[in-house]
Amino acid sequence: MQKGTIDIKTENIFPIIKKFLYSDHEIFLRELISNATDATQKLKTLASLGKFKGELGDLTIQVEVDKKNKTITVRDRGIGMTADEVEKYINQIAFSSAEEFVKKFKTKSEAERNAIIGHFGLGFYSSFMVAEKVEIKTKTYKKGGQTKAVRWECDGSPEYLLEDIEKEERGTEIVLHIDKENTVFLEDYKINELLNKYCKFLPVPIQFGMETVQEPVAGKKDKDGNPKTKEVEKPKIINNTNPLWKKKPADVTEEEYKSFYRELYPLTFDDPLFHIHLNVDYPFNLTGILYFPKAKKEYEMQKNKIQLYSNQVFVTDSVESIVPEFLTLLHGVIDSPDIPLNVSRSYLQSDQNVKKISNYITRKVADKLAELFKNDRETFEKKWDDIKVFIEYGMVSEPKFYEKAEKFALLKNTEGKFFTFEEYKKHIEKTQKDKDKKLVYLYATDADAQHSYIETAKVHGYDVLLMDGILDSHFIQNIEQKFENSAFARVDSNTIEKLIQKEEEAPSKLDDKEKESVKAAFERNIDKQKFNVVFENLSETDLPVMVVQNEFMRRMKDMEALGGGGMMGMGGLPETYELVVNANHPLTGKIRREKDEKVQDELVRQLYDLARLSKNLLKGKEMSDFVKRSVGIIE
Ligand code: ADP
Repeated sequence: MQKGTIDIKTENIFPIIKKFLYSDHEIFLRELISNATDATQKLKTLASLGKFKGELGDLTIQVEVDKKNKTITVRDRGIGMTADEVEKYINQIAFSSAEEFVKKFKTKSEAERNAIIGHFGLGFYSSFMVAEKVEIKTKTYKKGGQTKAVRWECDGSPEYLLEDIEKEERGTEIVLHIDKENTVFLEDYKINELLNKYCKFLPVPIQFGMETVQEPVAGKKDKDGNPKTKEVEKPKIINNTNPLWKKKPADVTEEEYKSFYRELYPLTFDDPLFHIHLNVDYPFNLTGILYFPKAKKEYEMQKNKIQLYSNQVFVTDSVESIVPEFLTLLHGVIDSPDIPLNVSRSYLQSDQNVKKISNYITRKVADKLAELFKNDRETFEKKWDDIKVFIEYGMVSEPKFYEKAEKFALLKNTEGKFFTFEEYKKHIEKTQKDKDKKLVYLYATDADAQHSYIETAKVHGYDVLLMDGILDSHFIQNIEQKFENSAFARVDSNTIEKLIQKEEEAPSKLDDKEKESVKAAFERNIDKQKFNVVFENLSETDLPVMVVQNEFMRRMKDMEALGGGGMMGMGGLPETYELVVNANHPLTGKIRREKDEKVQDELVRQLYDLARLSKNLLKGKEMSDFVKRSVGIIE
């Protein structure tokens, strides 16, 4: 037996390891199983190179919890270590890299520490976060197994113990003696949770506990002639060693993509709309599968669904520093050993390699959409409502994505027909240019509520787009700036003559004084806080009075509702409308000529209510009064 002291260069890190990273204590298991996986993979490589000629045997990594003795054991059948290697790798290299990690980490604030994405780097010594004593029992693969096995032990002080032991099996066994504060890790459910989180797709089988399975009994059938089965206890393998993203895209079927989606998100009911298989190894290594989820009706921007892996080891499920924000709405897996893992998120965003990766993914996503659009426009249109939010989000936030997407992004009109930007421009070019040659895009945000305005536009031979998505108000602002000499106007934001003004205004049949008297009659009867009376010289066949909502004011309100609030002080913007009075309508003339103020009021109220009715603004008592009054008029 040999006792020694670990060569401490700066300070004793054991107490620090115990204290810090408190919320991340659980990573110890990931670190130990990663080491066991590496040791196993190395042995397999040696065997394939002919440098290891022995039996590989069963390479399953075992995890065991002994509640009574308060230990967790991780056992592998990998390359193992000689006594010298334990000295070198554990006492020296691993310790000094842990020292290095602690030193870097200690100076950081709690927030900065949490911002470090993978917390990789502490390695083997992370076991001291949860254990008061750690043992390593290991036997090397070397010299045909003639070398002695060794046991290393350390109780969290710089003193360690190293001795020869008898050990049959090749490989390494790490035994953690769990301390009082961390007994939660002795619970099966907790270990299962961690294995499921970090190790679900590791490339070497990992066994924890047993499971009961039904197995056919050879040669026996039940009374219905089916093979008889019996229950058997079998070691439970918790991982899928060959996850789909590691396969070649050409070898994977549609059904496999779908079932892998279910494996990733067992609680998600809907199938994904489509997937993108990422697979590059130059200039960086990246594999993965991204899925377009089916958008929910009550669309919550579901983020944190993409899982980041590094060589099949789970790292994190918040990837917003690695991909552009709009891509975080996708689901799936990204696996890249080229993403630095013990750096902060803000650093990641400026990392050149990460930038390249991010651009690559964005391009792939755009290419996939372009391909779907080109090859099967019908299906693309069918799925449009589900992918629209995603595409619009990408277009307003990523200029590079916009460049590609403007060729396949669709506009839908109120009749449910789809157009690309270019097609739509052609569609309305002849009819919807105003007198200044500006192309006016009319749109509705609610086909029911704005129905009468849509109909009026159609009567004029105009087309109306349906822009009722949650991002549409942003999106309109954005494309309006990009489309040359064009403007977007909601169908109810003005009279149709004003929305697309074809010629100079017709002369008014009322002079200013006459207008004043009509205006006064209206103002006696309307809610002046909400409605502002304006005159327009429309034709006699147009409606006498209409409610419209100024496009600019309404956009401001939309922005406020989307969270740009506070702009106009605490109360926000008031809801205001314009009450457009058609100066040339016969009824307007009638109001002016009416001498009896009571009759005038009745006429004005009726027109005011009708105008509000077609904009869904007439409610409650006012609605009942209107109905009563109308019945009276008919009688
Ligand atoms: P890292 O894995 O990043 O190298 P660790 O501190 O986790 O750092 O481990 C240090 C070294 O100890 C490893 O590089 C490896 O040489 C050795 N080691 C750790 N665990 C095992 C194991 N299960 N089998 C064989 N060698 C191991």
